Parts: sequence; C-alpha cells; structure tokens
Amino acid sequence: MWWQEPVTFLKGIGPKKAAELAAVGIFTVGDLLEYYPRQEAYIDYGNLKKINELKMDGSRQVFRGTVYSVRNSFGAHGKRYTVVVVRDETAYASLYFFLHQSYSAQKLKPGTELLVMGRVRPGKNTRSVSEVSVQMLEHGEEQTPEIVPVYSLSGGLTQINMRKWMRQALALAEQELPESLPEAIVEKCHLPGRLQALKNIHFPTSWQALQEAKRRFIFEELFLLQCGLLSYRQQNHDQRQGIKHGMNGEKLQQVFANLPFHLTAQQQKAWEEISADMEKELPMHRILQGDVGSGKTVISALALSKAVENGYQGCIMAPTEILARQHFETLQEFLQPAGIRVALLVGGMRVKARRELLLNLELGLIDVLVGTHALLEEDVRFARLSLAVTDEQHRFGVEQRARLTNKSEQAPDVLVMTATPIPRTLALTVYGDLDISLMKGRPPGRKPVQTLCYNEAKRVEVYQGLLRQVQAGRQAYVVCPLIETSEALEARSAEKVYEELSKGVLRHVPCALLHGRLKPAEKEAIMADFAAGKIKVLVSTTVIEVGVNVPNATLMVIENAERFGLAQLHQLRGRVGRGSEQSYCVLLTGVDTPEALARLQVVRDSEDGFYLAEEDLKQRGVGQLFGLRQHGLPDLRIADIIRDTETIVEVRKLAQEELAKPDALEEIRRLVELQFGQRFAMIFNT
Ligand code: ADP
Ligand code: MG
Repeated sequence: MWWQEPVTFLKGIGPKKAAELAAVGIFTVGDLLEYYPRQEAYIDYGNLKKINELKMDGSRQVFRGTVYSVRNSFGAHGKRYTVVVVRDETAYASLYFFLHQSYSAQKLKPGTELLVMGRVRPGKNTRSVSEVSVQMLEHGEEQTPEIVPVYSLSGGLTQINMRKWMRQALALAEQELPESLPEAIVEKCHLPGRLQALKNIHFPTSWQALQEAKRRFIFEELFLLQCGLLSYRQQNHDQRQGIKHGMNGEKLQQVFANLPFHLTAQQQKAWEEISADMEKELPMHRILQGDVGSGKTVISALALSKAVENGYQGCIMAPTEILARQHFETLQEFLQPAGIRVALLVGGMRVKARRELLLNLELGLIDVLVGTHALLEEDVRFARLSLAVTDEQHRFGVEQRARLTNKSEQAPDVLVMTATPIPRTLALTVYGDLDISLMKGRPPGRKPVQTLCYNEAKRVEVYQGLLRQVQAGRQAYVVCPLIETSEALEARSAEKVYEELSKGVLRHVPCALLHGRLKPAEKEAIMADFAAGKIKVLVSTTVIEVGVNVPNATLMVIENAERFGLAQLHQLRGRVGRGSEQSYCVLLTGVDTPEALARLQVVRDSEDGFYLAEEDLKQRGVGQLFGLRQHGLPDLRIADIIRDTETIVEVRKLAQEELAKPDALEEIRRLVELQFGQRFAMIFNT
C-alpha cells in the first residue's frame, strides 16, 4: 500500500531528502500526508496588498506584480546576483535573487505576472525584497490558488519541494485511501471524508474548506484517542467480574450519625455517585477530584464503610507515611464507633507486628487497611477486598493502581482521590479510563487564607510576623525549594533557613527541620510533634505538600516562591486555613520581573484550585504539567486539549456509543492502531 512505502517512493526524493524528512518525523508517504501545515500559517493570496501598502519591517509578505526589468550584477566577492523589478499600479519593488535562484530569475521576461513572497524592507528608490520565492501566473490567469500552506521545516527542506511532494502523495490518495473513522460517525457529524479533508488541509479551496478539514482531523484525533482509552477500560477493567454492593444500611447510618458535621452539597453529590457505582455489577473506576481541604477523606470513609457493611474489606493507600498515619487516625475516629476495625500498614514495621497484622487481614479480622506503598507487597493478602482507594493519585502510576486491584479475585471497586484539580476535559484525557466526581470549594466555617506577596527585602519583617504568630499560640510552616544550599541553584535551602531562624529570631522557639532525606521514623516523629504543638515552626521542603492537616498552623511562608508552579503554591497554601483562625500565606521572592510578579499575583488573588490549575496550564502548557506521554498516552498532532474542550466532550460521548455496539471494538482498535500505532503504548502493551 502506497502509504506504507518509504518517502523515496515519490519522485524527487532521494536518500538525502529522505534523511531530512526523517529528521522531522516523516518516514513513509503516509507520514508525509499527515504532516499538516503549520496552523494559522497559510498564505492568503486572496487578500493581497498593493505594493505601496507593504510594510517595510522585514516581515514575510505576499503580493502580486508584473516584471518590469531584469538585471544581473556582481556583489562584493564577484558573486552574481539578479535584480528583478516588478510593479503594480501603485509602486515598484526590487526582488533580489542569489546563487542558483539567480539563474532561474534571469529567465523572467518583462510583462510576466508573478505572485511574490519575501521579506520586505526599504530600498534605495523602491521597496527591496529578499528571500524571495515567486510563482508565475499564466497570462491572463485569474485562477491562482488563494491559500497556500506553510510547513514547519528544517535543514535543506523547502516549502516548494514540500508542496510538490504533497501533490504527488495526494494524487496517490485519489486512487485509494481508506477512511479512518467509522462511516456512520462521519455522516452523523457532517465531517468531510478523509480524502477531501487531506486535500483541503494541504491545498484549501477556500477558508471554509480549510476550517472543515481542520475540524475533521481534530475530531479524528480526539475521537480515536477516547476510543483507545475507553477500550483500554473495557479490556482491563470491565472484563473482570465486579462486586455488587447492597443499598446503604444500618452501619452507614451509624457512621453518618457519628460524623461531627453534615456533608456539604458537593460532598453529598460525590458520595451518591460513588455509592451508585458500588451498587453496580461492573467495577467502579472513579476519580474524586477535590480542591485541597474540600473534604475528601470523609467520602473515602463512607465508601469504605459501605464495603465493610457488605461483608467485605477496603483499603486506602497514601503516598507518604505521614499521610497514611493521618488517614489512619481520621478513619479510626469516623469508623471505630460503628464497630469497624481499622489497621495501619507502613514500611519498617517490626517483623512480628507485621506478621500478625497480615494474618489478621487474611483472616478477615481487619476491615479497613490504611497504608503506604507497603500495601502493594506480595504477601499482603486480603480475605475479600472490595474497595481500593488511592489518595493523591498524581503520585501513583497506572501500574500501581492495577497491582492493588489484583489483590482480589473479583475486581474490587477503585476510587482515586486527587487534590490536583485539573480542567475537566484534560481529566477526560489524562484519566480517560475513569469516571469523574468533582468537589469544588470547601466546607463552611473556614476563613479564606489571606495571601501576601513580598520582596525578599522584607524578609526580616516577615520573620518578625512569624514570631508574633508563635507568641499568639499559633504554629507556622516555612517552605523552601531546596534541602541544602547548592552552588548551581540560587535559592534558599531549608537547612540554611532553619539555621538562620533557630539561631536568630526564633532562638527561644521550638523549631524543626523536615525534608525527604530524613529517615521515615525521624520524619514521623517530627510531624507528630508538630501536630501535637510541641514544635511551633516547621522548616521544610515540599514534603508537606499533600494532605497534612494541622488546624493550629496559621502561617505559611514560602521562600523563592517564583520557583514553584501555581498549582503547587496553591497546594502548599492548603496546609494552613484548616482551623477557625485567620490564616496567612506569604510568598517571598527576590525576582522582580513583571511576569514573575504577575504569576504570583494570580495565586494571591484566587483560592480556586481549578482556576489556578487552568492558569498554570495556560502559562506552562499541557506538556509541562501533564505530559501525555508521562501517562502512557500518545502526543497529539493537531488537537489541543485546552482549546478543543468542546470537541473532547462531544467525541467522548460518541466514542462511548460507538464502543457499546457489538463487534465495534475490533474495528476501532484497528483504526486506533492506524492513527497512533506504537505511540499508544498504554493500550497495546497491557
Ligand atoms: P482534603 O480534601 O484536602 O483531603 P480533608 O478531608 O482533609 O480535605 O478535610 C479537610 C477538613 O475539613 C478536615 O478537618 C475535615 O474534618 C473537615 N470537613 C470535611 N467535610 C466537612 C464538612 N462537611 N463540614 C465541616 N468540615 C468538614
Ligand atoms: Mg486529603
């Protein structure tokens, strides 16, 4: 099939050109056709300026002119060049041709009509045009192509060559070209067919046709991506026999009665979605996205109770020991009064204690197991696991999730909780195999955290403020980007700040230094002392980033705040404002560029994690934050997850309908493979 042939299959492409094409990722004739022109970079010949209207700023412009004279000259080093003067009814322009271009330019005859593209600058008497490419118009020809593509190229590749090759490839496509979307979808969504769209994306017959072609390819890419994700889900999750939990009963009522608060409307909705999923035969695969402090823990407590009420076991896995311990305490408080037995499993436990715990787990004497990665180990066996919860998903990979669910014969329900709020459509892609529950905002009774941005010059005052908070009986965090001072990076290290504070302004105050290089037991002890109020100020790196809950902490100082992402700053800030007192977050920075300050002001002015995540995405790009590859997904060629929000929602629905049809899976898989090939590692390698 011609599209699988190497590019050398085309006339004019030898080994040298093939190597240059390979450098931009084009190997086959099919690759070439799918190398779409740069978006927004088509040349609009239909909207040409007159010569006297051309801007003389060195930018690339296009105009029409008639050849007036052709003259050869020699430059300083004896190199020949050709000057072709063209004119229209408004002015003259001199086109400069060098080297091999010079020869073809000499052949231009006065009176010839040309389309000219080049960089326009002021000349002696006329406008001067360099880096010229011209296209001859047949005498009297009005039918010039209006819209011409511009490709991203490197090395010796030229636009003219690319266009020539594209035309050859399109001629082959005219003969034979398979459709890459189900016919019914093409019809239903009024998309142009693949051939027509390919022709129009390279050589649009009109702007309208170009728009249609782009729409089709964006649709195609996103549709097949969703199909891939959903079929992954079908293959890997839905195939396994799930566990059907019963309706909520007495034990849950007991747990509810024991809660120190009522659920907010957002929590109620999330709980209903989870509860309904758990009552279904199909295994649940749901992600609960909730801003920091939105109250996710209690939701997991309810889901775990539901598992236990039905005679099963549940587990919850947290990324750090500190968090696991905290969950353990909270869950015990919520669940023990209802007679639910909660246990904690972390690394580094005594052999005997661990053995006893594992035995009890296997005997079904433990109802809910809380822990770290330690839960994943081979010898951790449940009697009858029906719900696996993971907290703060961005720290766990797809593969770890799978390891946890494999600890049960029947597929347990899976609930993933994340505090990294990402825009819904991005979540649909990154977590495309999961259903989504959202909780925005926070429970009532909390004052918003007041955020302040200060230049480092104010550090002394800020540290005085730190002391005042401590004297008022409160606690505080100081977060630094580094553990120890580094020669390569100019940023404050936790060690240095700790030295300064504990020997300086806080010399009479119990302080501690917390970072990832301490032994787990040391970290644990420090955290416990901080939570108990024995330590007043905790100087740390971002190890406290997720989930830690100390309501008496009312101040957070972040050093070198410019080094953190918006979403991360927001997460850190979430450690304070957990009690009823007014809390503060101080962003210290030595950088005073307007951009850096503007970024910090975005965090200062908003407490909406979803909004901040979106801003973060706009500023740093999807790739930076949520590289698709990092999630085992292919990169996108023409679609844009942020821009094409509506299309994503549309195609997801269509993909679900399509895959529900009998026998659709095989056909779709074939198309997905055609589109993404090896790049769809997550689907085809699992
Ligand atoms: P996160 O979503 O960040 O994990 P948590 O589950 O730690 O949030 O909850 C943050 C705090 O809010 C906890 O102290 C919790 O007890 C409290 N909380 C949760 N839900 C409610 C509610 N409906 N009303 C009042 N306080 C609540
Ligand atoms: Mg949490």
